[in-house]
Parts: sequence; structure tokens; C-alpha cells
Amino acid sequence: MNKDKRRLILERLRENNPKPQTELNWSSPFELLIAVLLSAQATDVSVNKATDKLYPIANTPQGIFDLGVDGLKEFIKTIGLFNSKAENTIKTCRILLDKHNGEVPEDRAALEALPGVGRKTANVVLNTAFGWPTIAVDTHIYRVSNRTKLAMGKTVDDVEQKLLKVVPKEFKLDVHHWLILHGRYTCVARKPRCGSCLIEDLCEFKEKTDV
Ligand code: SF4
Repeated sequence: MNKDKRRLILERLRENNPKPQTELNWSSPFELLIAVLLSAQATDVSVNKATDKLYPIANTPQGIFDLGVDGLKEFIKTIGLFNSKAENTIKTCRILLDKHNGEVPEDRAALEALPGVGRKTANVVLNTAFGWPTIAVDTHIYRVSNRTKLAMGKTVDDVEQKLLKVVPKEFKLDVHHWLILHGRYTCVARKPRCGSCLIEDLCEFKEKTDV
């Protein structure tokens, strides 16, 4: 895809949603970190249902640490992989308390050193809580980037590097949310809704649908 077309796509996504937000509920970097950690292989809706009950009771590293693994499981047992997520969350709280004064570090290496936090989670926290121009590539962004030919790659890491290279600076902060939302609601996995897609004329996918 040439760079003029790429820019048109990004301009159109921006025009449609000038201030895109995550669909996870959060009100502090710590709440966002835990919500993202819980969201692996789970929907944002299911995470919000759990954190809407959890955060009024405990929304700090000390508060959640004090619940203990079993206490935390009571709040998150409706979310997939809740056993390992509960253990990772309690370990993460412990490290935040011991090493970071109970704060979420604005530092990629320190974030990725937390149990259950990989590159994607660190990218989301750095982008959404701290305003870094990082691009967290998940399954939606991977699919949309490859289908449209906006940024093609064989792995999520390839796509992340390609997007970082080809997306102009002014769009970097928000491109992650635009592409996730586009993949979640329009360019869906099984049957993309090309007939109602706002970038249909610019997208280079060969098997567009009429839906
Ligand atoms: S035209 Fe179809 S394939 Fe292309 S971005 Fe839109 S929904 Fe996805």
C-alpha cells in the first residue's frame, strides 16, 4: 500500500473517532494495568463486569495484595484463566509494593518484568496510561493490518514493527485503538462487514463482502 493511501485511511479513522478510548474501565494506571492483565483471552466486557465489583473494594497494589489469591479469585472467577491471572496479579502487586513504591512504573523493562505482563500489555499501559506512541498489536490489529495491507507481517511483532515504521507521527498515539475498534466491530474475523466499512474504497483486501 502506498503512503498516500495509508494516510487517507488514518485520516478517515481519526475523523470518525477523534479521541478513541479503550473499552476497559479504569481510572488510574494501576487499574488499567490489572484490567489489561485480566483481559488476555477474555472480552473487555467480561473484565469490566469483574473490575466494576473489585475496584470499589480494592484498587491499589496493597488493597489487592491484601485480598490474597483466593480472595481475588472470588471477584475474577467469571474470567477465563482466572487461576493463573489471580496468582500473577498478586505477585505483580507484591513487586509494585516492594520495588516501585506501589506505583506502576513508566518503563517498558520494569513493566515486562511483572508476572503476566508481556510486550502487548506493556504497550497498552505505556500508550493509554502514559501517552507513549506505542502500538500494541493484538489479534484484531494483526488481522486488519494484513487484510487492508496497511502494514503486512507474518507475526504480531512483524506487524508492530511495520506499523511503527509506516504510521506518521501524528497518528501513532491513537492508531492502536482505531484498528482494534475497527477489527472488533467492522473488519470482524469471520465475515468482514465491507459493505458498511468506512475505508472500503481504500482497503486492498481482495475478498470483500457486501455485508
Ligand atoms: S473493506 Fe472489508 S476487509 Fe477492508 S477493512 Fe473494511 S471490513 Fe475489513
